[in-house]
Amino acid sequence: MFDINGKVAVVTGAASGIGLATVKMILAKGGKVVASDYNKEGLEKEMTSLEKDYEGKIGYIACDVSKEEQVKAMVDYTLEKFGRVDIAVANAGISGLCPLLDQSEEQWRHVLGINLDGVYYTDKYTIEQMVKQGEGGAVVNISSIAGITGLHMASAYGASKGAVRTMSKALACEFKPKGIRVNSVHPGNTLSGMVNKDIFGDDLINQLKAGGILGTAEDLAHAIIFCIENEFFTAQELVVDGGQLTTYAPDI
Ligand code: NAD
Repeated sequence: MFDINGKVAVVTGAASGIGLATVKMILAKGGKVVASDYNKEGLEKEMTSLEKDYEGKIGYIACDVSKEEQVKAMVDYTLEKFGRVDIAVANAGISGLCPLLDQSEEQWRHVLGINLDGVYYTDKYTIEQMVKQGEGGAVVNISSIAGITGLHMASAYGASKGAVRTMSKALACEFKPKGIRVNSVHPGNTLSGMVNKDIFGDDLINQLKAGGILGTAEDLAHAIIFCIENEFFTAQELVVDGGQLTTYAPDI
């Protein structure tokens, strides 16, 4: 088992939802965390509250993952704060649903810039440090079930999430000799800043709940922890969707 206790993790998109739940679980297991998000206020509020229970175990820094220099600065900050990086959770993402013919090139690049480039930069700088340390590591990239099936009205989102899945496999092969494992996690509908009653409306959220296809951020954080801890688990896509991809069917 890859014991999280005493290890140093970097988690992006950590001000809410799956990222925040993952930060809490890593801390509860004795890890140290550098949490980042481009929502500086939200991040500060959550981390100052967690610091009461985990003093000296948390660092946080504003970081827009689509900006390479900011991701590099996040990793540099982690090294100043804790001296190493053992775990990376590249979680920051946006949804960006849009019909193709209404979508500007700017919108397309915006989604790809955060959901794909952001994961690439996070992986690149954290893995570079793990290689220097020479003691292996665990990288978890957050994709989506849309990264497996594609998704209606989501050309950019689906493209970004599919690319995260296949990039993760390439990196898993490339860095296996260095003891660095890379997996992708594929959430289905998960209550978070991205999926909630304010955005989806009460009716749809209740339908998803009734159908057993609405997870919690903690459900996903557990899956991310599994990917980190299981030393025989690499180059995989872990779907966590309440069985939606396999069992969903209209009433007939
Ligand atoms: P969320 O909105 O609660 O969390 C996403 C976080 O990422 C937010 O705190 C946001 O501020 C941050 N973020 C957005 N753009 C950023 C950027 N450029 N740089 C840094 N931080 C940025 O939503 P969530 O559901 O917890 O999303 C986490 C991941 O899970 C995302 O990659 C998302 O695509 C994926 N996902 C979520 C669902 C779902 O149903 N919630 C389904 C499939 C995949």
